[in-house]
Amino acid sequence: MSRNNISIAIHGGAGTILRNEMTPELQQQYEQGLHNALDKGYSILSVGGSSLDAVEAAVASLEDFPLFNAGRGAVFNNKGGHEMDAAIMYGKTLEAGGVCGVSNIRNPVRLARAVMEQSGHVLLSGAGAEEFARSQHLQFEDDAYFYSQQRYQQWQDALKADVVQLDHTVKKFGTVGAVALDYEGNLSAATSTGGLTNKKFGRIGDSPIPGAGTYANNNTCAISCTGVGELFIRSVVAYDISCLIEYKGLSLKDACDLVVNDKLVKIGGEGGLIAIDKDGNIEMPFNSEGMYRACHNNLGRNEILIYR
Ligand code: ASP
Repeated sequence: MSRNNISIAIHGGAGTILRNEMTPELQQQYEQGLHNALDKGYSILSVGGSSLDAVEAAVASLEDFPLFNAGRGAVFNNKGGHEMDAAIMYGKTLEAGGVCGVSNIRNPVRLARAVMEQSGHVLLSGAGAEEFARSQHLQFEDDAYFYSQQRYQQWQDALKADVVQLDHTVKKFGTVGAVALDYEGNLSAATSTGGLTNKKFGRIGDSPIPGAGTYANNNTCAISCTGVGELFIRSVVAYDISCLIEYKGLSLKDACDLVVNDKLVKIGGEGGLIAIDKDGNIEMPFNSEGMYRACHNNLGRNEILIYR
């Protein structure tokens, strides 16, 4: 085994996380969800496993946890269904796979990985992606699995707001993601989301798009984003950070600061991201009120955080 550092960071979404709506019990549940996922990923890295396996396992764990907006906890779209987006990318080869607008898939991140490794394509959408999932024997769940009273109420509130105020957009971010560096020095990133509550017209966000919400390159960094997808797509956020490192020699911290706290803020791109560079440095910047986030490396960093 070679002597690189190992690092993992995960997020459960950025946004307006109001302290007065957070009870100690709820906070404990969120922290437990983050802890479980972090543990799944880190335990793979610590025995010499690949960063690709680590990010897939961490994101799948977050997808199985009902409070985050991905997999089981995916938000309702305008028609009362769930359409999920996910992506995974391997920094060693720059291979990437993503799925958009898929329904009833238990773990969209596993489907994204199958797309990357088995389909010969990078992005599959909707019914075609589900057909591919069946061919790969991925696990499906019925609609009841994705139902929760809290998500249903969020959707009802969003529907109502649309009626009284056409311009109103309800933005609740709860996307999940993971980035990791393994002992071999390989970086990987994965992101998974239910998108925006009450979304219409087959809307797709930044999460499944390599370079926008998800990116990994062994020469620079691995990134997973959360926030207003439209602005993150237009800013090509994940690739922009990689480029600032590759072409301008910025540190991971300076690149993240410039993109999250300056460039994104100027165009109204609320949100944040998690990032690890090729040396194992971890950054978890956000310009919103909070971001569910956690990280662990072999240099003594081990954190689970929600607020600033
Ligand atoms: N970025 C996601 C999207 O726009 C939303 C989120 O981060 O929760 O689909």
